[in-house]
Amino acid sequence: MLFNPKKYASDYPCEKSKEMMKKTIDFFERKGKQRIKNDDQWCVWYDDFIQFLKDNKIFATLLTPSKYGDADCRWDTWRNCEMNEILAFYSLSYWYAWQVSILGLGPVWMSKNEEVKKKTAQHLQYGRIFGFGLSEREHGADIYSTDMMLKPKGDGTYLAEGDKYYIGNANQAVVVSTFGKIAGTGEYVFFPVDSHHEKFELVRNVVASQMYVAQYNLHDYPIKEEEILEKGQEAWDASLNTVNVGKFNLGWATIGICTHSFYEAINHASHRILFGKAVTEFSQVKQLFVDSYARLVAMRLFALRAIDYFRSASAEDRRYLLYNPMVKMKVTMQGEEVINLLWDVIAAKGFEKDTYFEMATRHIRALPKLEGTAHVNMALIIKFMANYFFNPGKFPEIPKRNDIADDTFFWEQGATKGLSKIQFHDYKPAYDGYDLPNLNIYKEQIKIFKAFLATATPTPEQQKDIDFLLILGELFTCVVYGQLILENAKITNVDKDLLDQIFDFMVRDFSKYALQLYHKPSSTQMQMELCMKMIRKPAVDEARYERVLKNHVYALKDTYEMNP
Ligand SMILES: Cc1cc2nc3c(=O)[nH]c(=O)nc-3n(C[C@H](O)[C@H](O)[C@H](O)COP(=O)(O)OP(=O)(O)OC[C@H]3O[C@@H](n4cnc5c(N)ncnc54)[C@H](O)[C@@H]3O)c2cc1C
Repeated sequence: MLFNPKKYASDYPCEKSKEMMKKTIDFFERKGKQRIKNDDQWCVWYDDFIQFLKDNKIFATLLTPSKYGDADCRWDTWRNCEMNEILAFYSLSYWYAWQVSILGLGPVWMSKNEEVKKKTAQHLQYGRIFGFGLSEREHGADIYSTDMMLKPKGDGTYLAEGDKYYIGNANQAVVVSTFGKIAGTGEYVFFPVDSHHEKFELVRNVVASQMYVAQYNLHDYPIKEEEILEKGQEAWDASLNTVNVGKFNLGWATIGICTHSFYEAINHASHRILFGKAVTEFSQVKQLFVDSYARLVAMRLFALRAIDYFRSASAEDRRYLLYNPMVKMKVTMQGEEVINLLWDVIAAKGFEKDTYFEMATRHIRALPKLEGTAHVNMALIIKFMANYFFNPGKFPEIPKRNDIADDTFFWEQGATKGLSKIQFHDYKPAYDGYDLPNLNIYKEQIKIFKAFLATATPTPEQQKDIDFLLILGELFTCVVYGQLILENAKITNVDKDLLDQIFDFMVRDFSKYALQLYHKPSSTQMQMELCMKMIRKPAVDEARYERVLKNHVYALKDTYEMNP
């Protein structure tokens, strides 16, 4: 169920792509854990990695839509997610150079500007990297207030003036897709800048990391009309639609981090003898491992299924707009939980400078906070709740999408409006496909939650209170999370013991959120009564638990150790 570099075996049907993944694994394994950790601690910029990417045309192959590249070039989310997982498995810092290149390329591939697209495809062939200049120091999530200005000179050219903050790769990127406004009209605009240009001032790296997260200023940087990527509504849509593509990767990076951490924790604990027995024999350690493994498998099952919907998206099927923010928000927060659980096992070792784990504990915290905080994503998700529960639509069955295809819809997502009108397929058939003790309890919890929404509907004041809505949203996402996990369990034929173990923690999570909703200052008597009914204990089955522990969790002992 988990990625293991020493047994890399993808079911993706393209040998050349698999070769590329294997080469990437080899690059890191040859570099070894010690050097990766040294470079991390000394914040060394990864020239060796950038050179490796260039020599093997990794970005050119994976990040050029087929129309603009060689035969193997396509934007194929299945294989890109493999790359996400591999890079973060070794270090989020390396993944970040890839991630912000993806973001930087978003406004380019979404643009109608064919010249810039062809030029960018050339840059990719030369092994260059890219950046996405959206954020500003003063404005955070409020991108309406952006104050980077493009001043028209009246002769079809402009001068760009302003500063950007938190911009990855801006120390080297040859195209930084920069978001701003046109002075005078206030129209939004995306334009490319080159970090090597004399009017581009690289101020500093604002973080102490190998990742270069730049502050930069543009001092009357000249831009020609024919260089502009998007203007007006199209520029606005490009900013959000790029993030729709990019934020998916954060969930996959989380899965990579948690997987490597899991191997380290289980190897350490199973070889550590205390009071005459291995640490893995303590009952609380067994529970921590079973929970972290079940959570990690659930993250993977959900994120894999979300790929199927993302790749199948169209103007008529926009369900990805619910599933993508969940990959970003839910999976990344689950990743924090997995690291918390594993840290209680690995304990002091998790601080040691030679471990991957030490780096993971820092990196895992970033993922829920980047590309829109968990709050911002939850505020988005809530808009889908009414249609999801009360107005399902009919859609053709979406198969597993590990086929070789260029995901062209990403660049044609169109207007970012009308979210509350999007429909989803009925969640019940996925839930009714199995009869398992914990799943059955979970179904009862969902029924009560639906009754809560129908009969104890949040008041107009509660609907304006983000603090209240965030917990309501947690309960909603539990339902969607379970649905896609179950859909994928059927596709991948997940062991029923493991599936029921997953719903063991899901019943506990649902209960936890119900209690939090109960505690909200504004919850009404009727809402509180329904919350209490949602609080349930999972079905106890000692034999199932032991089988999961032995057959799945402890079976991973000594199956992976990174080269020193
Ligand atoms: C390591 C790193 C790398 C980054 N890389 C890039 C990059 O390459 N390019 C780029 O453009 N940006 C980048 N960023 C910026 C990042 O995307 C922003 O940090 C993020 O979008 C959130 O902005 P903020 O942290 O300033 O939080 P703020 O926007 O200041 O938010 C503060 C609080 O308000 C809440 N809040 C804000 N808006 C809402 C809302 N609408 N509803 C409810 N609550 C809300 C937030 O949840 C948070 O609790 C990077 C940041 C870091 C730290």
